[in-house]
Amino acid sequence: MSVPKSSRRSLDERLAVELGRLREQNLYRVRRVVEGRHGAEIVVEGRRCVGFCSNDYLGLAADPRVAAAARRALDQSGTGSGAAALVSGYNAEHRRLEEALAAFVQRPRALLFSSGWAANLGVLRALLGREDTLIADELNHASLIDGGRLAGARYLRVAHRDLAAYEAALREAPEADALVATDSVFSMDGDLAPLPELARLCAEYRAPLMVDDAHGFGVLGAGGRGAIEHCSTIPDIYVATLGKSLGVAGAFVAGSAALIEYLIQRARTWVFSTAPPPALAAAARRALEIVQAEPERRERLDRNIRRFREGARQLGIPLGLPDSRLPAPDSAAATPIQPLILGAEARALALSRFLFERGYWVAAIRPPTVPPGTSRLRITLSAAHAPEQIDGLLAALRDGLEAERNA
Ligand SMILES: *Cc1c(COP(=O)(O)O)cnc(C)c1O
Repeated sequence: MSVPKSSRRSLDERLAVELGRLREQNLYRVRRVVEGRHGAEIVVEGRRCVGFCSNDYLGLAADPRVAAAARRALDQSGTGSGAAALVSGYNAEHRRLEEALAAFVQRPRALLFSSGWAANLGVLRALLGREDTLIADELNHASLIDGGRLAGARYLRVAHRDLAAYEAALREAPEADALVATDSVFSMDGDLAPLPELARLCAEYRAPLMVDDAHGFGVLGAGGRGAIEHCSTIPDIYVATLGKSLGVAGAFVAGSAALIEYLIQRARTWVFSTAPPPALAAAARRALEIVQAEPERRERLDRNIRRFREGARQLGIPLGLPDSRLPAPDSAAATPIQPLILGAEARALALSRFLFERGYWVAAIRPPTVPPGTSRLRITLSAAHAPEQIDGLLAALRDGLEAERNA
């Protein structure tokens, strides 16, 4: 029996019900408007505050030298690339950037994508088919999860950082048809994948290893070469983004010449998408030069991370994850992502609001970005933060948690 046409609800009516449900569950999300530039100080909703929730780890998002490189390229090349790269959109700026990126991460070739999301979807869809198996950490970034789904591959989710589970999955998967994919630095937890051990396992079972280094590139390793340098591991497929530590936008895949040539033929998110503006490539190349020339940015970031963690310890602010399934707090020590797990959505929202009143911007992170029951403040540190700003955040966190206990 069919529903009479007149009683069908409109799309907007159905969406309104869904939105109401999200509001009731404290899962409704809104954007806050930023005026002007990113930096330690940021103007949000008309209010100047200190930001602790960007991925601008090295303070390059508003660096005048990077902006100047973009401006020069804009003058020379205009705004648009004009087409997809295979048609007529591949600019000399794109090629220069790809060559610089490949040299930096010491891989034969690199391919520029318009975003990390597009890179992960494009790679997984190109490399995997229905008969293949994707073995992936359960806390991987959403783009790796969706890439696996898009490819239609069999999906084996592995418990977070669990090497025994990886080995069991590899043993089960038919040889040569499995691919292992993991974040290097987990984006909401800040801990590191066990890359050297994973690389050994992958070599043993002859499965390619794909590493998404969005939060490690530019940050980890003395030279900023990310997970490759920090973990002395060379994955078969290396993905990193240009919108985080480099402060620009876009992403790249690095690997063998065969891998890159294959992606040029088959990565649909790359083939059928307009090449990024040449100015963006010029800006990213300038940012990459700064990453290499100014290791003091990583040193400052490292000092800031340590100051924050030590201050939190002294004030009894419980960073990291109490759940034994999740990593010990120590393993997150090296990265700028420092989560304060609060559990309930309302609790994370309330503490975020308290901090905002005090002049600190730390967004509340809720499901589906993190698993249910692990809503949190994802505090991120930057080389741009001054010591007093970190101390101020710590004091505000202490007061917020105390006010919560007394409520
Ligand atoms: C941010 C992020 C992406 C997506 O990159 P965009 O360039 O923002 O699309 C992919 N993977 C991880 C781990 C990320 O943190």
